[in-house]
Amino acid sequence: MTAPESPLEHRIAMVEQQLISRGIRDGRVVHAVLKVPRHVFVPGRSLDDAYADRPLPIGEDQTISQPYIVAHMTELLEIPSGAKVLEIGTGSGYQTAVLAELAATVVTVERHAALSAAARARLEALGYSNVHCCVGDGTLGWEAAAPFDRILVTAGAPSVPERVLGQLATDGGMLVLPLGTGKILDLVRVVRHGNDFRSEVHGKCSFVKLIGEFGWPDERESTSSEDA
Ligand code: SAH
Repeated sequence: MTAPESPLEHRIAMVEQQLISRGIRDGRVVHAVLKVPRHVFVPGRSLDDAYADRPLPIGEDQTISQPYIVAHMTELLEIPSGAKVLEIGTGSGYQTAVLAELAATVVTVERHAALSAAARARLEALGYSNVHCCVGDGTLGWEAAAPFDRILVTAGAPSVPERVLGQLATDGGMLVLPLGTGKILDLVRVVRHGNDFRSEVHGKCSFVKLIGEFGWPDERESTSSEDA
């Protein structure tokens, strides 16, 4: 067997070695991951590692998630094709693109304006017209576009943000988020029926922190205000 060379060959190898071998089974998710050019979402200096089995730095101390974790979270969401999805933590926009392959509309919120602008430019260049990139504190959700059939949080939350839960569709809406206060987090799915919320844990993961009013405090801000 020869080593993969084109981006598509890299993606086929990535799907076989990192996703299917670890139990990703949903054909729609596999198809979406095969389609999205991950190398477009990583900074130039990490291009050689674009399809590697790990997260990569994207600036502002943030990371693009490991391919497997993107696929696993997407699979857990069981996204119907007509769904309206909220993503909290746009980062590079890679996960956003995978969601946009499966859903009708994706609203994605990022607290760093520069990351949001870069993600928006990539997504536009790739022709994703069903994505809306917003800048703000995603721990408040995105009330203007609520309710959402699916919500994905792609940063580690110390607790489930109440406002976000309130923006979940009442008829089987699903929220997936990394949850916990330590270094290793639970990957949690919450399913809503009316005012009944059921939580399930689907393994462990590790993520950068969800920073905001109903997440972790911004350490840089608190340091500078103490200094002032
Ligand atoms: N899914 C992304 C990876 C996200 S890394 C990708 O595929 O590239 C987590 C992102 O969440 C970071 O960009 C971080 O700035 C953002 N983030 C953290 N707290 C946030 C908040 N309260 N609201 C919106 N974005 C937040």
